[in-house]
Amino acid sequence: MAKDEPATEFDAEFDVLIVGAGGCGLVAAIAADAAGASVAVVEKQSRLSGNTALSSGSIPGAGTRLQAEVRIKDSPKRFAEDVLRVSGPHDAEHLAARPTALSAELVEWLIDEAHVSLTQGGLAVDTHAHVLRTDGTPIIGLFAGGGAATGISGRRGSDGYVSGNGLLSALGLGLIAGREAASHAADQRAASKTKLHHNVQQGEMT
Ligand SMILES: Cc1cc2nc3c(=O)[nH]c(=O)nc-3n(C[C@H](O)[C@H](O)[C@H](O)COP(=O)(O)OP(=O)(O)OC[C@H]3O[C@@H](n4cnc5c(N)ncnc54)[C@H](O)[C@@H]3O)c2cc1C
Repeated sequence: MAKDEPATEFDAEFDVLIVGAGGCGLVAAIAADAAGASVAVVEKQSRLSGNTALSSGSIPGAGTRLQAEVRIKDSPKRFAEDVLRVSGPHDAEHLAARPTALSAELVEWLIDEAHVSLTQGGLAVDTHAHVLRTDGTPIIGLFAGGGAATGISGRRGSDGYVSGNGLLSALGLGLIAGREAASHAADQRAASKTKLHHNVQQGEMT
């Protein structure tokens, strides 16, 4: 600032100003707040959205405790190698190593500190994708699949997520759930026609 320039006055002052309330900005805001900074977040949209809200929410983490609990051998090094194999050589390869090395810490931080719920395996379903009550009986007409339901990964919720099988679980159970729901709806229609027919017959008789 030039010597005789008047000091700028601000309505509010913060240590850290985050521009954009997507996943990156919000995580940065929580982290900065946790580190003792005063934080403000500005967002150009009238409501929180961005690509993060649109995303399917899959976050890979290599070497997490969740993997260790189900004896999945993985490491940030293997993850970085995978990423570079898919991307091919590029001019920012040194940057690929940083987030992959951080991935396990991030996933565990999201669970432990940011309290993001991982819904994988949330609802118990049977092989026809019926949602089951806690006593194991199906809720007629309610079907679930994908990350909202127990699938390939088992019944241990996020603990049981078998990496790389999310889409198979989602699309596979979606296929079953769609067919079963259509079949259920057809049965309902047929039953209501039969009931109608029965009522008409009874009406004719009385
Ligand atoms: C359909 C879909 C599915 C996806 N699925 C996955 C997935 O499963 N796994 C995965 O890893 N990635 C996925 N992605 C990619 C992932 O969502 C993005 O890489 C990630 O969300 C980017 O986060 P971000 O915070 O940088 O951006 P955003 O979430 O887009 O947030 C940026 C925010 O900044 C705001 N902003 C921009 N300019 C300004 C400004 N000048 N002033 C104030 N605010 C501003 C925007 O309005 C927006 O809210 C998916 C993306 C899409 C679209």
